[in-house]
Amino acid sequence: MIYADLHIHTVYSSDSLVQPKNIVDQLVSHSYIKVAAVTDHDSVRGCKVTMQLASAYPDILIIPGVEITTPQGDMLVLGTEELPPKPWSPENVADYARSISGVSIVAHPFRQYGMGETARGIKVDAIEVLNGGSSSAVNNQAKEFAKNLGLPGTAGSDAHQLSELFSVNSRIDARLDVDDVLRAIKKGLVYAQNSAGSIRF
Ligand SMILES: [Zn+2]
Repeated sequence: MIYADLHIHTVYSSDSLVQPKNIVDQLVSHSYIKVAAVTDHDSVRGCKVTMQLASAYPDILIIPGVEITTPQGDMLVLGTEELPPKPWSPENVADYARSISGVSIVAHPFRQYGMGETARGIKVDAIEVLNGGSSSAVNNQAKEFAKNLGLPGTAGSDAHQLSELFSVNSRIDARLDVDDVLRAIKKGLVYAQNSAGSIRF
């Protein structure tokens, strides 16, 4: 069993203050969250830098990813160190994720920049049902939505600053291995939960 924060922004997103080193340090010192997906806005530079730094520590894992700004709303792709080919329609992004055996996730569907009901028509792998930057009302709405669609629900802090890292986590029945984590999410072996009190500075 692993515990992962599946939605984090670094300074390679224009609106984030989190340094790649912060993520690595927090994973090393955290008591149980040892996996993090780096998902910058329309950039894969941050995940590459973070993976490089994390490679010195065998007991933590960085999942490369990106948060793509589509005209309909934000989508996460996990398991990629490349950007999807344009145009970035939700369908194209989901197709790209499938083609690389990655995971496509509708980010915060009922918040600003969320896809809302539009996500219904898109073949995504999962819905983000617990977003650290969203109210519990819209998170609950996302949870109902995922249940309704029969899709797995993931959790990610959507951290843009250090204090927001790991506010929520995804408990995943997987080994400490990127491919195994991605496979487990697609199989629905994932449980979204709050991690209150778990952050150590
Ligand atoms: Zn985000």
